[in-house]
Amino acid sequence: MNDTSPIYDAIVIGGGPAGLTAAIALAETGAKTALLARRAPYADNRTTALLGASTDLLERLDVWRRCRDQAAALRTMRLVDDTGRLIRAPEVRFSSEEIGLDQFGYNIANRTLMEALEQRAAELSGLTRFDDEAVSIDPQDASVSIHTNAGGSLAARLVIGADGRESLSRDAAGIDVKRRDLHQSAVTFNITHSRPHKNISTEFHTPHGPCVFVPLPGNRCSVVWVSTPREAQRLMALSDDELSDAAEKQSHSIFGSVQVEPGRNLFPLAIEGPKQFASHRVALVGESAHVLPPIGAQGLNMGLRDAADIAEIAGQAISLGEDPGAPPVLARYQAARRPDVASRTFAIDLANRSLLSDFLAMQSLRAAGLHLIGAFGPLRRLAMREGLAPSWKRVG
Ligand SMILES: Cc1cc2nc3c(=O)[nH]c(=O)nc-3n(C[C@H](O)[C@H](O)[C@H](O)COP(=O)(O)OP(=O)(O)OC[C@H]3O[C@@H](n4cnc5c(N)ncnc54)[C@H](O)[C@@H]3O)c2cc1C
Repeated sequence: MNDTSPIYDAIVIGGGPAGLTAAIALAETGAKTALLARRAPYADNRTTALLGASTDLLERLDVWRRCRDQAAALRTMRLVDDTGRLIRAPEVRFSSEEIGLDQFGYNIANRTLMEALEQRAAELSGLTRFDDEAVSIDPQDASVSIHTNAGGSLAARLVIGADGRESLSRDAAGIDVKRRDLHQSAVTFNITHSRPHKNISTEFHTPHGPCVFVPLPGNRCSVVWVSTPREAQRLMALSDDELSDAAEKQSHSIFGSVQVEPGRNLFPLAIEGPKQFASHRVALVGESAHVLPPIGAQGLNMGLRDAADIAEIAGQAISLGEDPGAPPVLARYQAARRPDVASRTFAIDLANRSLLSDFLAMQSLRAAGLHLIGAFGPLRRLAMREGLAPSWKRVG
């Protein structure tokens, strides 16, 4: 950094969906914001089931209108016990109508969402983009210094660490992370099918994890197939025709004949959580702050709530003349995020464990729980509302 370099209010490190959203939201508050992120085509074929509060946020940030035509509405969520065990849970259907909504949210290809976010970020005059990456991050008393791969230097009062699982920002802030390998992997791919999905997302619960078919526009679905690492490797090695047959069989032919589209990806699954969400002028958002298995579509939805919260808290601090990287501001962010992330991590971990468990008692509990949810309207509606967003975050 030389004497004439500006000190930004906030620098976002990492340009995945969480980082781009945080950068746009911060710039929208009037904060002098920089985004340090490589401009690269999105590398995998994942899709995201964006729940209602996420699309509301993207609407507010003028992102959603750019991509909503390429998203499919999710109106019904269907859970099917496909474990073949003696004690099986009844099928449960959650319908958005039952809680007065037209849909729970929308499923969209991450690639499409990223294009819309990039487009919006490029329009904002208060957001400076550096097409580069951080190689060192050094928090000091009054600011954080960042050195980039291309030899540049930047400084900010607040750093938003949106740099994913192997977060350099998190290390720089001295934040430890707890990691648990789940010994499961997810294979993702998209399919075209002959029968309509009717905007129903169907989750088949197998003894090794869920296999989820999530609607895309037209007669298409994205598939997230969670299994053992060995089975996932086997699925990855199948030809397109063999994988089409396997997917049709796993879906019990509810979509008619199935044809997989080119391209598939493999994700080893883990649960990760940092000890703190912010420290030493660094606030974590997205997967640097939480990694969850893809159950209940929570990961990026939480990442977008991180982005919204840090923008609101830092933006408010700046408007009151406060230092956005000061400990009281970071403490407010920590207090806002911890209950949401901790409660969802717990619930998803429990759901995953109960599915994998070989213990009869656990299988009975799971079946009874799903039976109660399926049969008892108020409980089902509570589960739906809590699944969409934490109750303390909803207004009205
Ligand atoms: C199979 C699967 C299905 C999923 N489905 C859903 C779903 O339906 N709904 C949902 O809400 N969530 C879902 N998730 C979770 C969701 O995909 C993730 O939460 C989300 O993609 C994480 O985004 P991110 O921006 O935090 O991280 P990333 O996308 O990993 O972005 C991090 C970025 O930081 C960059 N970076 C790293 N280091 C540096 C550096 N030093 N300098 C500059 N840049 C750096 C990286 O290049 C990368 O671009 C799913 C996850 C999986 C595995």
